[in-house]
Amino acid sequence: CGVFGVWAPERDVARLTYFGLKALQHRGQESAGIAVGDGGTVMVRKDLGLIDQVFTDADLSTLTGQLAIGHVRYGTAGAKSWEAAQPHLSTINDVIIALAHNGTLVNTDELRRQLIELGVPFLSNSDSEVAAKLIGYFTQRTHHLREGIRKTMELVRGGYAMTLINEQALYAFRDPYGIRPLVLGKLVDEGLDEVDPSAVSALPSQTDDASGDEGALASASGWVVASETCALDIVGARYVRDIRPGEILRISAAGLVSEQGVPAAAESAECIFEQVYFARPDSIMGGKSVYACRYDMGRRLAQENPVDADMVIGVPDSGLPPAEGFARESGIPFGEGLIKNRYVARTFIAPTQELRAMGVRMKLNPLRDNIAGKRLVVIDDSIVRGTTMVQLVKMLRQAGAAEVHVRINSPEVVWPCFYGIDTDVQAQLISANKSVEEICAFIGADSLGFLSVEGLLACLPETGVSAGAGCPVHGYCTACFTGVYPVAIPDSFGRDKFM
Ligand code: 5GP
Ligand code: SF4
Ligand code: MG
Repeated sequence: CGVFGVWAPERDVARLTYFGLKALQHRGQESAGIAVGDGGTVMVRKDLGLIDQVFTDADLSTLTGQLAIGHVRYGTAGAKSWEAAQPHLSTINDVIIALAHNGTLVNTDELRRQLIELGVPFLSNSDSEVAAKLIGYFTQRTHHLREGIRKTMELVRGGYAMTLINEQALYAFRDPYGIRPLVLGKLVDEGLDEVDPSAVSALPSQTDDASGDEGALASASGWVVASETCALDIVGARYVRDIRPGEILRISAAGLVSEQGVPAAAESAECIFEQVYFARPDSIMGGKSVYACRYDMGRRLAQENPVDADMVIGVPDSGLPPAEGFARESGIPFGEGLIKNRYVARTFIAPTQELRAMGVRMKLNPLRDNIAGKRLVVIDDSIVRGTTMVQLVKMLRQAGAAEVHVRINSPEVVWPCFYGIDTDVQAQLISANKSVEEICAFIGADSLGFLSVEGLLACLPETGVSAGAGCPVHGYCTACFTGVYPVAIPDSFGRDKFM
């Protein structure tokens, strides 16, 4: 999923959120929603579909306020229904909040049961709704929203990056491992780049986190939080920093306040799949562009799995940067071999296997002139079920390729993800059930190679605190490749993923 949040009293917050979500559309196409706070109350509009299918210009005009959050959904936990679309609204007595969640919580069954016993109603079976209702419940008991969030962070386990509003304040918080990404940006009025001293005194600035860039509140006309920096770029916000693991950020007319909601884990575990596949190449994570990470993965892949060939092609879009890197490192020319229909959404996210299979043909078409008679190296970011590669290799051979050597810029996906990326039940993961040779035969390739875990890690920026040699985590979650899960999975939750 993708989440966004903005606090900007002078701006059209619903439209800013709409643009932010447009930049995050690749993170989920199932549903979209925006909630605004106008000082008095909170309004939500959400529905199934792409952002442009959910919001007309007229809809945006009715969503007026000083602050807003938005969500695009990529369903992992819970059914695909209107009720599961986000933001989730929670109204308990006079506490009205809206919550947008990226990630998956692994222990909400029991928490939901307890809330229902306490008389809190539920509309969906979504883990995110449990978080919204928990926060609402604790807030109306303590009369303190930050306390409600803090108590909820103590109870829930899993991966989460969340944005939340009530009538007047925007909150952003992240799980103690920092599994799902969340960044803070500053909206700067054009021409206001220089800090105007009169603006400094005019604006309240009692922040308990006035260090560095955040202290320069005076030049900001608002604040933005988002899953990726590409959403800051589109609204003209400047990157300030990542929300820290376990941190709660509160943004309101009183300024920006940071509090450690729960202690950060000794070792952070940022999702490595963001760099491999999920994030947009123009986003920056840990100080390095995702494009540069993927390019380096391609170079490393060429070192680890060399092959004699005439042309390197990438599977659009996420296979293109590593294909360029592979070409550069191997000296084999890079060429275009597959053209993508850009009006077809991500195939992996389509709900059934049949639609997924259809999707590959609808989305990718080979460039016969470029391919015919050539020995090809084909780079893709990952093999999950194997659906994409089986069809691609066949397509490339039909288009006249002499040889097809498949190279994957990630390790083999052997373990299911429980933290917000739908890498399926283990039985459907082809690498959990077949050897590399068997997969190569299954997809009909001349050869097949994957990037090693060490090779992948070597391409990424350092993150978090490293516990040092021998620690399997290294600042990144690699569970889908290694089976080393940073957050324990309760039996009741994990069982159906290992069938
Ligand atoms: P497969 O077709 O082997 O099941 O999945 C791999 C293909 O799906 C790759 O081309 C990859 O770019 C794409 N893909 C789309 N969404 C996802 C996702 O959420 N996870 C993974 N691993 N791959 C995805
Ligand atoms: Fe990301 Fe894989 Fe960890 Fe899931 S298991 S959070 S996809 S690295
Ligand atoms: Mg792909």
